[in-house]
Amino acid sequence: MIYWDHAASTPPYEDVIRTLTEVMDKHYGNPSSIHQLGGDSVKLIKRSREVCANALHVKPSEIIFTSGATEANNLAIKGAALQYMSRGKHLITSMVEHASVYESFLQLQQWGFEVTFLPVDSQGCVSLESITAAIRKDTILVSIMHVNNEMGAIQPIDAIGQEIKRCNALTLFHVDGVQGFGKLPVDLKTWSVDLYTLSAHKFRGPKGIGLLYVREGLKLMPLLTGGSQESGFRAGTENTPHLVAMAKAMRMTSEQQPIFTKNVSIQRDRIFGFIRDIKGLHLHSNENGAPHIVQFSFPGMKSEVLMHTLELQGMLVSTRSACSSKQTEPSRVLISMGLSHEEASSGIRISLGDSHTEEEISQLELALRKAVEQLYPLLEKGRN
Ligand code: PLP
Repeated sequence: MIYWDHAASTPPYEDVIRTLTEVMDKHYGNPSSIHQLGGDSVKLIKRSREVCANALHVKPSEIIFTSGATEANNLAIKGAALQYMSRGKHLITSMVEHASVYESFLQLQQWGFEVTFLPVDSQGCVSLESITAAIRKDTILVSIMHVNNEMGAIQPIDAIGQEIKRCNALTLFHVDGVQGFGKLPVDLKTWSVDLYTLSAHKFRGPKGIGLLYVREGLKLMPLLTGGSQESGFRAGTENTPHLVAMAKAMRMTSEQQPIFTKNVSIQRDRIFGFIRDIKGLHLHSNENGAPHIVQFSFPGMKSEVLMHTLELQGMLVSTRSACSSKQTEPSRVLISMGLSHEEASSGIRISLGDSHTEEEISQLELALRKAVEQLYPLLEKGRN
């Protein structure tokens, strides 16, 4: 089997697995306990917070550990909206955000907030002009993702942040950075970003752990109340083994990012090189997108059929975002980018890791050509 679904999840580094097991085994003390074992956990958490902060060029006190990106997105969006609603009740996001962002905004709409959902162009990008036009005096939050998980579109986060602050200095900017970290340079010190989300299993860390960067001085209404962990932003006993392991993965990933981007871009371009001339295939990603995501469709053929045909040949690809893969209607994200209903229902995502060989790319090409050869006659038959 060859795994082509790294945007859904990545294999943890061996070192990360070792660290996770070791901390679970030896450092099981509750960090809130005031004895020695509790104190050991406190030290580990402090060190991990420093490592995560370094990777993002921010202060350790600005890192809040969460159970993953879904929680971090919910905390950023609902927490900011509820905290700052006395300033206004207008919020802005895009039509192509991950479900954990999109659904948070739908819920806020039900709670009486007004939400502007910005359209995107055929590449999946929002325009600066649409942001300028949408921001008002009562806009308290804008949330735009860095890299789209279905198409790989890259949003110009630096420019968007500057434009938001130029239009309204009090409007907060949240970025879902899940698919960008490790794939592209990230520097929260220079970007005008107030809130930034990550999930460890997308960069070879463990599942069930993530973080939210909260710019110094900002407050958020906590979603989980109880103890005073995470400076009051998020109650609950800290997940010491997972956050220590995440910090390890984060350091390794950020150190390796330039080489990852270079190597994966070469493999992605090899895929572009052969995929364009496969009969009946529509390629939707392009060279301007993130290096690890290739999105295409075989219009008329349901994604699941092509996915399973490829699986029988040992190629594990994805039909769409992992969280939405069991939904039956075509992807909201792909439809928003202007794909037809037929294209969006037949979308396939290949997402690359850092260890693919040229030989594996050749195997993928063979498998795709064979699958399309098998399926094309069925498609023709269905049309007649
Ligand atoms: N945001 C984006 C862009 C994602 O791709 C994902 C996961 O697919 C998430 C958020 C949610 O991450 P998690 O499921 O780890 O909470």
